[in-house]
Amino acid sequence: MCDYLVRGLAAQGKVRAVAVRLNNTVREYQHRHGAFPTATAALGRLMVSAAVMSSTLKNGDKVTLQIVGNGPFGRLVADANWLGDLRGYVTNPHVRIPPRVDGKLDVAAGVGKTGMLYVIRDMGLKEPYYGSSSLISGEIAEDVAYYFAVSEQVPSVFAAGVLVARNGIPSNAGGYLLQLMPGADEEVITFLERRVSQVPSITAMLDSGLSPEDILYELVDDLDFQLVGERKSLRFQCRCSKERLAGILLSMGEQELEELIRQGQAEVTCHFCAERYHFSREELEELLANAKGEE
Ligand code: ZN
Repeated sequence: MCDYLVRGLAAQGKVRAVAVRLNNTVREYQHRHGAFPTATAALGRLMVSAAVMSSTLKNGDKVTLQIVGNGPFGRLVADANWLGDLRGYVTNPHVRIPPRVDGKLDVAAGVGKTGMLYVIRDMGLKEPYYGSSSLISGEIAEDVAYYFAVSEQVPSVFAAGVLVARNGIPSNAGGYLLQLMPGADEEVITFLERRVSQVPSITAMLDSGLSPEDILYELVDDLDFQLVGERKSLRFQCRCSKERLAGILLSMGEQELEELIRQGQAEVTCHFCAERYHFSREELEELLANAKGEE
């Protein structure tokens, strides 16, 4: 079962709906970073948020979400591009967080209950669009819904969930977004609020085998729901390369490079995908020569 998103419209275009399944992508994140369960759930929810936001991207566009909270995870980053490539990281993914009293993973305890959510939409213009809002719970889905409401002024219902199995591997991940377009009347809002409280949680729906399409029909079929466009496939995919990482080495400055050359080699790890790039003494000397040549 591949990861993908679907979108559609309901209530004569007054409600925009998006649903995603992200099982493999979140599994790949967990595997690459060896993340502990609570960090996996937290970053998975943020990746679901990025995936949902990617539904409106045009060619060349990219969206990045960052959470900087006061919890032990440090920074959480997830980004998605117009092709459906997703990636992300947590600064400290190897922190043990005790479960909540109800037995669920305590995402808010890792993220922190105060902090900021930043959204950067890079749409190929000179300046990217920056938006931000305060965290209201640290549970991520509520924080993202709050961001839509206050920063983008679009009333939204957003759910994101990740189920992590006992062995630490995520067994499912996904979410849905319902947004009210201008002119949506009170009745539609009341209907959505009631409907969302009636349906099972997002992880329960995915666990029972519902597809993203099924989930949208479950939510808004009564509002004359119609799918729009085709499925968009999603995957974990980083855009790093040895050349890009060499650029980071160069930006450290000549003194740092000389120090690495004295050590005989260097290994640079990509934050996003944990891929390691090895640079030999000869490669480092070449970088240094290029740096000096450009002065
Ligand atoms: Zn990478």
